[in-house]
Amino acid sequence: MAPLNQKQEIKVYNSLSGSKETFKPLLEGNVGMYVCGPTVYSNVHLGNVRTFMSFDMIFRYLKHLGYKVRYVRNITDAGHLTDDADEGEDKIAKKARLEQIEPMEVVQQYTIDFHTILQKFNCLPPSIEPTATGHIIEQIEIIKEIIDNGFAYEKNGSVYFDVLKFNESHDYGKLSGRNLEDMIANTRELTAQSEKKNAQDFALWKKAEPQHIMRWPSPWGDGFPGWHLECTAMSTKYLGEQFDIHGGGMDLKFPHHECEIAQSEASNGKNPVNYWLHANMLTLNGKKMSKSDGNNIFPAQIFTGDSPFLTKGFSPSVARFFVMQAHYRSVLDFSNDALLASEKGFNRLMEAVNLLEALPTSEKSSIDVEIWKQSCYDAMNDDFNSPILIAQLFEAAKFIHQIKDSKAAITQTDLEDFKTTIKAFVFDVLGLEDVNAAAEANTDKLNGAIELLIQLRKEARANKDFATSDQIRDQLLELGIQLKDGREGTTYTLS
Ligand code: AMP
Ligand code: ZN
Repeated sequence: MAPLNQKQEIKVYNSLSGSKETFKPLLEGNVGMYVCGPTVYSNVHLGNVRTFMSFDMIFRYLKHLGYKVRYVRNITDAGHLTDDADEGEDKIAKKARLEQIEPMEVVQQYTIDFHTILQKFNCLPPSIEPTATGHIIEQIEIIKEIIDNGFAYEKNGSVYFDVLKFNESHDYGKLSGRNLEDMIANTRELTAQSEKKNAQDFALWKKAEPQHIMRWPSPWGDGFPGWHLECTAMSTKYLGEQFDIHGGGMDLKFPHHECEIAQSEASNGKNPVNYWLHANMLTLNGKKMSKSDGNNIFPAQIFTGDSPFLTKGFSPSVARFFVMQAHYRSVLDFSNDALLASEKGFNRLMEAVNLLEALPTSEKSSIDVEIWKQSCYDAMNDDFNSPILIAQLFEAAKFIHQIKDSKAAITQTDLEDFKTTIKAFVFDVLGLEDVNAAAEANTDKLNGAIELLIQLRKEARANKDFATSDQIRDQLLELGIQLKDGREGTTYTLS
């Protein structure tokens, strides 16, 4: 990664205040960031990936500036119910029932899928990736605190957060901009059998019915934790009662994140997060991509092109470039045409990057590299504006072509700075990969390894160790590498 650059001042759009604020971490030089992870009951679609890519870009930029970032992103492996609130079946248990496998088999399968996909898109792993089921004890402790503070009540083995009581002394709705009176006016009356005092209350702990397989003992009997509580428990445990950044998709702002704030304030009295960052949705045909209604496209389809929405396949880097060309807070609509355009742009950028190594230098530079460089930082400092950064990189690409055609000039010192900056932003910050360069590097490695084997075979033959020399030749042949002995030495062909 590039040198320390913390002098850059970042402004982030904080959903809590509804404005751009200067980013100041609690502990200088350190950043604590929590991002809600996936509920691992199905394959991630490109919409989910967009959100994780956006926070990966933010993580990468903070690291690039030299911050020591602890990035926590959880895995939700229990407690997320099918209605995204307090009713229905656990999403993972439901999948396990339908497939007739163990819930933890569901979790394993989709966690592996999630990791594989994010790795393909060159997302860095988080510093800690805790699971909800690994933090049941922490969740129970928080519930006890909330009950002791008078903000939750137990009913028939379940525990509910008392939203109305909380709102008497706190502000429930401050993140999502909702007003509790309006919420009450807009909700249906509770049914007679409801255990909740008010429709706005939400579950911290749910009693497990006999058929519910994912269950844990608690002071209130066997049950399972509420979805909102998981994130409070895991963020508090690894980042403290107050931390810098909390991220997630826009759709999680209410109720999930609103409830996280309420839970922290009701248990330890502290507003947990300084900056709430929300990534906007990826849409398909103008509608949010979503797991539940089938309006989605999966990464595997992008790579192969096997989808009615696509005319061909695209590399993960092109898809990542497509995502980075939009600001993370803007809605982005997916289409074949948009991907084709991104592919063109991506190739143009990579072509320019590859020209950098062989550029001629002069006595004078025809642009001010320092000013251009700062404009890249300015873009990212302005709420991580990756599309503006990309526009600056295209300016650089134009300049590179001009230098190559002797229509512009650059000094040796400026070229070094220019190269380092372009590569830092393209590869370290945007997380793009030059697919061709990677393939070439692998070919170089393969050629080197074959040359080494040829040398070892030659030595074996010189020692009359024909068993070893034949083994090298035969096994290479099995791998599709044919050695040919000639007067000039041994050559090879790859089939
Ligand atoms: P889930 O596994 O459903 O909890 O979603 C994981 C993450 O993906 C959350 O941060 C969601 O906000 C996000 N997400 C879900 N659908 C989309 C979408 N269409 N576009 C962008 N992000 C999404
Ligand atoms: Zn969460």
